[in-house]
Amino acid sequence: MAGIVADHLHLRSDSPFFPTAHVSTSLIWTSLFAFFLLAGLLLRLWLATRQIRHVARHRNAVPAAFAARIPLAAHERAADYTITKSRFGLVEMALSAAVVLGWTLLGGLDALNQWLMGALGGGMWQQLALLACFALISGTIDLPSSLYSTFVIEQRFGFNQMSLRLWLADLLKSTLVGALIGLPLAALILWLMGAAGQLWWLWAWCVWMGFNLLLMVVYPLFIAPIFNQFQPLEDDSLKARVTALMQRCGFTSKGLFVMDGSRRSAHANAYFTGFGAGKRVVFFDTLLKQLSVGEVEAVLAHELGHFKHKHITRRIIGMFAISLLGFALLGWLSTKGWFYTGLGVMPNFNVAGVDGSAPNDALALLLFLLAVPVFTVFLSPLFAQMSRKHEFEADAYAVAQTQGADLASALLKLHEDNASTLTPDPVYVKFYYSHPPATERLARIPHSQASTA
Ligand SMILES: [Zn+2]
Repeated sequence: MAGIVADHLHLRSDSPFFPTAHVSTSLIWTSLFAFFLLAGLLLRLWLATRQIRHVARHRNAVPAAFAARIPLAAHERAADYTITKSRFGLVEMALSAAVVLGWTLLGGLDALNQWLMGALGGGMWQQLALLACFALISGTIDLPSSLYSTFVIEQRFGFNQMSLRLWLADLLKSTLVGALIGLPLAALILWLMGAAGQLWWLWAWCVWMGFNLLLMVVYPLFIAPIFNQFQPLEDDSLKARVTALMQRCGFTSKGLFVMDGSRRSAHANAYFTGFGAGKRVVFFDTLLKQLSVGEVEAVLAHELGHFKHKHITRRIIGMFAISLLGFALLGWLSTKGWFYTGLGVMPNFNVAGVDGSAPNDALALLLFLLAVPVFTVFLSPLFAQMSRKHEFEADAYAVAQTQGADLASALLKLHEDNASTLTPDPVYVKFYYSHPPATERLARIPHSQASTA
């Protein structure tokens, strides 16, 4: 592939016709990219502002259907939390668009590449170094906002349980784990890009699929325990209820575990991991503290509903199909000179004296990762819509298997404890919400007070 780009660029100096064609495609690509980057930013800023205004307007009154069950103080706290987070989100959006612009059209990636070419020459090490430096720099740019949201926003609303020491330990561990897993994977994909011929992207996709499937098995067993402790569930009455529920629904699992989520945050959750009979159920300790036995059972039944309706399998298949499309697109784009020059990067030319050409594979990967979200942001309403539909189906399953009243009160408690707003902006919901707002979910649950109110 590198050869194709090099040939392509070679043509440029020979042919009087090629430069104009190349330059104009490159210019169109630049304009398209810049337009979508700006349009996406404006759209997201507009949505966030709508959300802030809507929540602020409804801050002073609990919605009628919830008036009997949610105190005004809790409603106001949820509004303040949502508004604070959304306001900070405005800053983050602008910053992340500026960072994408900095890497691409303003020449950041090009400068980094040139510098590493000078230091290491063109080859596998230079390419790996380019990916690693990019990841380190991007990670460093994100640190201040991660610190601010944990130690200022989450802290102010009483959710943060982390010390700076734990935060730093997490950072160190995740960087090491990321490097240990990411670098060999990146090396393998770069090698395929250089050695597997025109259909390298198909092989790379197979590797990517295999890697993701492996991660699903390895993550709960070896990676999650690096960050959290998992104890077998000891509460006997809950264990009996949960086991009975799973048998009733035809599920086998490798065990029920409690995770020390409270080490980091007061937000509560429960999830499944693993495959087939190796599935584990993991409850955050914060969830068990907040909910009654019946409510925990209802939350679990909701999760089982996702399995019964094959949402998980379908999501995985969908992800594989989309990534196949992505790899094929990358395979095509990486051979086009305008793909690089249009995004502010001069592809590598032949390096004098060395084995012919310097590959552009790492550059292609990074530009692709930077460019794709600029266009896919407009698809988020589609994915959000599908996800909300799945949530309704899982709720319906939970209602059929357990008590609707338990599910309803669990949802309300989790909303209140997580300070989620009950009055989100409807347009914002359509665009982003993976879960329907509590009002809509409760309205569909029989025997919940909200549905009769
Ligand atoms: Zn769900």
